[in-house]
Amino acid sequence: MEVNQIESIVQQVLAQMRDTNGAGPVYGAASGSIPATSRVAMLTEKGHFDIQEYAIPELGDDDILVKVEGCGVCGTDAHEFKRDPFDLIPVVLGHEGTGEIVKMGKNVKQDSAGKPLKIGDKVVTCMIFKDNPDITMFDLNKQNVGGADVYGLLPDDDIHLNGWFSDYILIRGGSTVFNVSDLDLDSRILIEPCAVLIHAVERAKTTGILRFNSRVAVQGCGPIGLICIAILKTMGIQNIVAVDGEEKRLSFAREMGAGATVNFKNHQGIEALAGAVKDAFGGYLADFAFQCTGSPVAHSNIYKFIRNGGGLCELGFFINGGDATINPHFDICSKEITTVGSWVYTLRDYATTFDFLKSAKDIGLPMSKLITHRFPLEKINEALETNLKMEGLKIAIVAS
Ligand SMILES: [Zn+2]
Repeated sequence: MEVNQIESIVQQVLAQMRDTNGAGPVYGAASGSIPATSRVAMLTEKGHFDIQEYAIPELGDDDILVKVEGCGVCGTDAHEFKRDPFDLIPVVLGHEGTGEIVKMGKNVKQDSAGKPLKIGDKVVTCMIFKDNPDITMFDLNKQNVGGADVYGLLPDDDIHLNGWFSDYILIRGGSTVFNVSDLDLDSRILIEPCAVLIHAVERAKTTGILRFNSRVAVQGCGPIGLICIAILKTMGIQNIVAVDGEEKRLSFAREMGAGATVNFKNHQGIEALAGAVKDAFGGYLADFAFQCTGSPVAHSNIYKFIRNGGGLCELGFFINGGDATINPHFDICSKEITTVGSWVYTLRDYATTFDFLKSAKDIGLPMSKLITHRFPLEKINEALETNLKMEGLKIAIVAS
């Protein structure tokens, strides 16, 4: 048995003893002792993070202290870094993070799904519903949780450990936290972007058109489109055609489960492009299509890929990308297309994502390859610049 295994077992036993005694807070350290201070990457002005050091505060009875292991860089982080559209500066960003519980208050017993929590467990956060106890993951009719507070987009306060771009984060009572100890680090870093796609596929399913044997077109092979393909594949959908303008992305789409690909740069005009999509399906238009780009032209085009009576999920316009032109007669009315929009996710989608990531691993999808760049915290400015240059796919900050 490894020394660190013994260590963690001893810690678990000690934590349980403290727990059953009910005496005092369940404070205890996991691997190694907890330092007095933690570094955070503070966005102090547009385009610049300062690495600052703050004292780790005392925990309340409902709080959890997490040692950060990694955090994905999101498009939202890049927008905030460049333009501060949310007016948050100074702020510690990073909401796609994960890490290990090193200390917790005596009231903390289980995660938001009812799974037990202990020191040493790996967790992720989702939304913060301090003032809205009615929103739970078990409310199936709940619409997406966009607009709720989330760690990594909270203004700075005297706790400072409010985002995942840091060494430690302090999770306060009332937050949504999930025990994801059974997922590897890369999977955990990918949970948030994957949840966006789980939600989109759940929205698509409400049309009744997306089925096992459906022909599905996925337009756009950035991280969103690639994850979309991976989810369809884990659902058992075989006839997937990916559309993008970059061969490298298209070959990744095939690794993720696309049976055929179409490079739009090889086809002049929408008729030729729609013809190429039809050819890729063996002479049929798509039963269902996912629009995963932020391009208005791409939105206008996608209707031409879909058969009469087919379905469309638009999820590419996460932020306002301008107006798109469609022909309501040909594109929607006479074709009788069913369209759904998708944005953010519900708490239930978040939990469903854990199962998807396990399934993806089981069937050997190369999810880890989505993380193309890894930077230590002190190189966070470089990481964000890399994201803004649109280099690679997913960029992550990882603990060194
Ligand atoms: Zn995000």
